[in-house]
Amino acid sequence: MLIDHNYINNLLATSSRLTDQQLEAILEKSQNKQQLSPAEVASLLQVENQKQLQRIYQTAGQVKNSIYGNRVVVFAPLYISNYCVNNCTYCGYRRDNDFPRTKLSQEQVEEEVKILEKMGHKRIALEAGEDPVNCNLDYVLQCLDTIYHTENVNGRIRRVNVNIAATTVEDYKRLKTKDIGTYILFQETYHQPTYEKVHPASIKGDYQYHLTAFDRAMEAGIDDVGGGVLFGLADYRFEVLALMLHNQHLEEKYGVGFHTVSVPRLKKAEGMSLEMFPHLVSDQDFKKLVAIIRLAIPYTGMILSTRETAELRRELVDYGISQISAGSCTGVGGYKENEMQKSTDQFSIEDNRSPLEVLKELVSDGLVPSYCTACYREGRTGDRFMRLAKSGQIQNVCHPNALMTLMEFMLDYGDQELLAQGEAFIDQEVNSIAREDIKNLVRKNLARLKQGERDLYL
Ligand code: SAM
Ligand code: SF4
Repeated sequence: MLIDHNYINNLLATSSRLTDQQLEAILEKSQNKQQLSPAEVASLLQVENQKQLQRIYQTAGQVKNSIYGNRVVVFAPLYISNYCVNNCTYCGYRRDNDFPRTKLSQEQVEEEVKILEKMGHKRIALEAGEDPVNCNLDYVLQCLDTIYHTENVNGRIRRVNVNIAATTVEDYKRLKTKDIGTYILFQETYHQPTYEKVHPASIKGDYQYHLTAFDRAMEAGIDDVGGGVLFGLADYRFEVLALMLHNQHLEEKYGVGFHTVSVPRLKKAEGMSLEMFPHLVSDQDFKKLVAIIRLAIPYTGMILSTRETAELRRELVDYGISQISAGSCTGVGGYKENEMQKSTDQFSIEDNRSPLEVLKELVSDGLVPSYCTACYREGRTGDRFMRLAKSGQIQNVCHPNALMTLMEFMLDYGDQELLAQGEAFIDQEVNSIAREDIKNLVRKNLARLKQGERDLYL
């Protein structure tokens, strides 16, 4: 059994409170970038003491910094269809919710993409409900073509991650032909009884089929896969351990685990109330679980959406989050409608700031916003990306690339405030690059960007 429930429950039942010394030993292992064992993760999950929690947050921040540096990748979701045959009890798109369903025509996809491009986005996550008739794979593939070919004054979307329902090896092979970035699928909950309860009578209700989706994706040659849990459905401690086991399974079988892990937390949606869910996660437990996932799988990217408030997002970037969405809409055609009459959203969001505002905050916090898409375009995916991460080369490749995309953003979408703030910041960051040859190359590229060239990367 891929997710052995008894094993996880036993770990949780038998892990005892850590002494400070035991905690430090685990944190040291993590600082040395060694993966933690499930038993170690289980004991970290038991920590409640404030002083020990601070040590966990602090170390998670250090681990993140030493691997990823001070970059934060920025992206936005694009909802193409809200048709859905499933009845997930937590979701605004479920079939029992009665509202006019819609999907984007190719002209509308183009319109939405142009608006996203005008906000400065280069990376998007395509999202859709599951409906084999109204939103079949042909339609999704067509949308991908349209997205990649839609050009605005300042260029195109350069990477599309895809979050669509679990499917067959055949369909994953077809998806792979479209040069997608990461294939993302949330397990929602690894706890089978809860899974079956919140996914009544539906295609998605098959726990095993959903759980083995990444196996089929890997078999189809998709080597960048992104997992996730919808926190709030079942005990978060169970979920974190199960996530570790799932990652371990992929590593053992395919040589590479999750490229990213998303940590969506359950939010109010149409037709459901949060009181229906007894395992909602408090802010404190949420911070803890983010930090523990960072410590447990140090090389995996961690994604946080606008479901969370600006304040919490700012804090969590320090504890391990490496990618955030910005300026998001979770309705179909939502970017066009924006402040106008709202379509039905999948769930409510908390951080409504524009990418420009988010970027200003990141820069003022000494973080480099990144729209870089170089790795996947250079074929550095799957274990090739992991090798780059593990060799420490991220600092020599990703950091310079992030600086170049920040300069692009400032020139094309920035205002006077960001330009003033960003110029000095980029200068200081370039000076911190250790290798002289790279430092010179970046300086040269920044000058080329100012002269009008675009899309330069290492
Ligand atoms: N329909 C596909 C699926 O379910 O896998 C594609 C993804 S769906 C558009 C995106 C994700 O939104 C779901 O996987 C789920 O975790 C999340 N979601 C649904 N309802 C939510 C809610 N009320 N609060 C927060 N996230 C929610
Ligand atoms: Fe449909 Fe996905 Fe929402 Fe479930 S989570 S109802 S599958 S859109």
